[in-house]
Amino acid sequence: MRTLPPEICASYLAILAEIKQHHRLYDVHVHPYEVLFDRFTYLESESTPGILSVDGKGYSTPSIYHFRFPELGDLGNDHKSLRLQDISAMLLKKVYSYVGAKVFSDQMDVGGIDKVLLLPVASELSNAAQFENRLRWVTHHYPDRDRFAIAGSVPGSIPTEGLQNYILNLQATFNIRAIKCHPVVTGIDLSRPARKQWLEELVRSCGQCGLPLILHSGRNNPYWGGRRTNCAALENLRNINFSASKAPVVIAHAGFHRCKMSDILCEGMPLLKNLLNTHDNLFVDISGLTFEPLKVVIEQLPTSRILFGSDALYEPQWEAVILTLHALKAKGRRIEQDFIQYASVNPRSLIFEEKKHVKYSADQVPSVP
Ligand SMILES: [Zn+2]
Repeated sequence: MRTLPPEICASYLAILAEIKQHHRLYDVHVHPYEVLFDRFTYLESESTPGILSVDGKGYSTPSIYHFRFPELGDLGNDHKSLRLQDISAMLLKKVYSYVGAKVFSDQMDVGGIDKVLLLPVASELSNAAQFENRLRWVTHHYPDRDRFAIAGSVPGSIPTEGLQNYILNLQATFNIRAIKCHPVVTGIDLSRPARKQWLEELVRSCGQCGLPLILHSGRNNPYWGGRRTNCAALENLRNINFSASKAPVVIAHAGFHRCKMSDILCEGMPLLKNLLNTHDNLFVDISGLTFEPLKVVIEQLPTSRILFGSDALYEPQWEAVILTLHALKAKGRRIEQDFIQYASVNPRSLIFEEKKHVKYSADQVPSVP
């Protein structure tokens, strides 16, 4: 990806410009602030509205020549994890120095995206009131609902039987369009039976409220430190009854966050296909996938089950767009048609369209080869 010359990038952006004449493009995986640690305090800029910054330094508009987030090396499972968290937060400050409506609008202008789903995440120690404050902050700083849809998230302290009321309340107060669950950041250990039940109830509650669920899945990043484990690994989703409701459930990163290619091919993909075949309401987003895993997902899963996501600002949004187009080309796919399905048709019908009932039915969803 990093070796793609600017003229190739420009040729993909030209394809995008063509597509955009007739299709609104969506990104279903964007974080409105640094969610992994949620340590930064952002201050509003007096001179430029729509920009908040960590250190008050000058902001410059992104371009397709800007730097890319450095690849984090594999340090192994070092248990001196608080130190790792510090290093990690330091690196993340580079990509998350600036947030706010203008920062993301600028990203969207470069990447050709019309509307994003903002995913705040309830941190491990936050309670309902603290997360609601976060959501209030997001709603305030991203006021344009034509560009920014907002998801809610559920603190781990909400008991199974309280989930539906909690979500109903968020929906009534903030008009959220989805629920984001990041088991690693929120401290939901899905290897435990009680948490599997909790997740099933979350799926059911999302169905009652007519909201899709975006569920992070993959392996732990040692840089995240603390007591964080592989609690969101795909194998922990194996026995969850996602058919407990009709709520669309989007498995973020196709469940392959930080997975090795050999693991994806031997274990991850068979497991994922099995899940998608069992539950018609399951989908994946391709956010944060590097080139090789992305090609496998494009090749092996039906277009109707894939949604475009970038994981901005952890990844520059335009890079995610170009990477996807480049992967489609490498696989000999119909670039325009498939990208329209990933970034327009699927997200619109599952997440962004104003309606109470999801449109797809079991017979419309092709099974996974
Ligand atoms: Zn993410």
